[in-house]
Amino acid sequence: MQKFAFKHFTHTIGDIQGSIPTFLNRKVVLNGWIDGNPRKISSKLVFAAFRDFNGDFTQLTAKGSEITKILRGLKPEDVLSVSGTVNSKRQRRGSNNNGAKEWELVVDNIEILNKSSEIATQLDSLKKTPSQYPPEYRYLQLRFPVYQNALKMRSKAAHIARSVFESMNFVEIETPLLFKSTPEGAKEFLVPTRRKGLFYALPQSPQQYKQMLMASGFKGYYQIAKCFRDEDLRSDRQPEFTQIDMEMSFAKSQDVQHVVQKLLKAIWKGIRGLPLYRIDPAKDGYLLEIEEAEDFPKLNYMEALTKYGIDKPDLRSTLYIQDVSQYFNGMPLKRSDFAVTEACVLKGALKLQKPSRELFIPENYSMRKPYVFKIRDEGELKSWARALPNGSNVSISDLNKKLGLEVGDIVAISDRQAFPYESPTPLGRFRQIAMINFPNSWRRHVIGSSDPTSRDIFVASWLVNFPLFSPTEGKIIDGYPEYEFSKLESTHHPFTMVKLEDYDLLDKEPLKAKGDHYDLVVNGVEVGGGSRRVHDAKLQQFIFSNILKIDNYPVLFGHLLRALSSGCPPHAGLAIGFDRMCSMLLGSSTIRDVVAFPKTQTGTDPVVESPSNIPDKTLALYGISVRK
Ligand code: ASP
Repeated sequence: MQKFAFKHFTHTIGDIQGSIPTFLNRKVVLNGWIDGNPRKISSKLVFAAFRDFNGDFTQLTAKGSEITKILRGLKPEDVLSVSGTVNSKRQRRGSNNNGAKEWELVVDNIEILNKSSEIATQLDSLKKTPSQYPPEYRYLQLRFPVYQNALKMRSKAAHIARSVFESMNFVEIETPLLFKSTPEGAKEFLVPTRRKGLFYALPQSPQQYKQMLMASGFKGYYQIAKCFRDEDLRSDRQPEFTQIDMEMSFAKSQDVQHVVQKLLKAIWKGIRGLPLYRIDPAKDGYLLEIEEAEDFPKLNYMEALTKYGIDKPDLRSTLYIQDVSQYFNGMPLKRSDFAVTEACVLKGALKLQKPSRELFIPENYSMRKPYVFKIRDEGELKSWARALPNGSNVSISDLNKKLGLEVGDIVAISDRQAFPYESPTPLGRFRQIAMINFPNSWRRHVIGSSDPTSRDIFVASWLVNFPLFSPTEGKIIDGYPEYEFSKLESTHHPFTMVKLEDYDLLDKEPLKAKGDHYDLVVNGVEVGGGSRRVHDAKLQQFIFSNILKIDNYPVLFGHLLRALSSGCPPHAGLAIGFDRMCSMLLGSSTIRDVVAFPKTQTGTDPVVESPSNIPDKTLALYGISVRK
């Protein structure tokens, strides 16, 4: 066994890089890793790329046969403490020195702090494409600057969030992870206990605890909270994820929105040095910066669904959906309950590239596909709509005029319900896919000399006026979802307050009532969501029993009802999906990039190999047996 009284670094590579002349010919100690195989030029000359813990690079070389021999024998990812002299370096033609600048370290002592494993050495070939690392070696993948930077950025964003909340006297309070099974929306993870038959559930969010804290008399609560949902996983979902969670008492929706706007502006500025944008109300194709004291614009649910076909529209694009039902003489496209026929035109798309039909419609798409027409010539312009199931007596010339349709365009047609519960609608999805396929077309621009690329444009808005309740969605038949209008669900969660003007609808026409809910949407991503809450226990009870028909609500939610009925002030709050927000700030397409140890699509942690089997003997302690 070796005692590692290692020589601690005196400087970082960055220190030297920032002030090369003052370091020339000075002795320094660096700590870090060998980055790739050392290049053996001759028996007397070797160069090795060296990376420190900041992800900066330099080159090591040596004088003297002893030390050269050690350097030659090093393997990628060996971890070292190296002492040596900073030397100015001649740039050699074609030398690959990994970004190292005009200096190198002439090493006179090498302490090998730990040899790298065989696998780390093998994986060296993936260094240039670290995203391809086998997920079971996540801890090695995280050594690379791109991942180091992602997690550093995440840490900085959390720090900014905390300082904004602290500056407003919010109190950071941790709430339990061993919670109780309650129907809040998503499927839960259960935790067995040794008290047989009794289970905890991991919280989907700290929602109920934070509301109880409002009953406790806290004015402002926040927490960077772990949440757990046993749902189908996608690139923007993990079974465990993090929220920036907050709640305010004696507060209305506006009060929460002000805090969140301040928070978001601070994070965007602190991390990306960028503002957030909104659509210029005077010029639809343009964007304006949202000023420091300005609110994010609000968009109604119905307007979002009809114009953009989704409740979280990406407003960077000027693509709109238009209602064209009137040109179809009142005939629905296929089904009478999906009575609105609508169109989306991709102006000049055929001149931009040659899109195939498949470009727009993903395979295995269970919802109905829109009808897509390429208008290649005058003949097609005059006849395209005839191919629709109800197209026989459409007045095509009027329709073309309404749509401004010309040769060279692509037009998509589909249908929706008069009040759409489907989000996205088929054309909403078509619009999203078109934006991906034609990233530089139909873009909103920023007025002024330096129009940022779409990567640097973040358009923010509040989505409001959601229906408080939705019919239960059943099977999808022929691409059309079936709805059970007699069985209602909360559109968000059951604690959402009704809009005051719709209060009286709760009794007789709950489906018509709007919720005092607000979603924070940036570039088509739901970054956060919140609401004013029901703080009146009687109303909450009425919602549980009369509307949602939750029979055993006193057992499931008794704690909350008791807290509400004990002098709980009006309150409102919101939670931001922290992982999602970080991946957006990073410009990454998956939240896995900003999660240290993410789960795979099947919910497996590939590093520790979990979930794992538990021996029957242990299971018996919990009163559990597994059917084989
Ligand atoms: N608890 C909610 C959620 O997780 C957010 C909120 O309403 O504050 O979506």
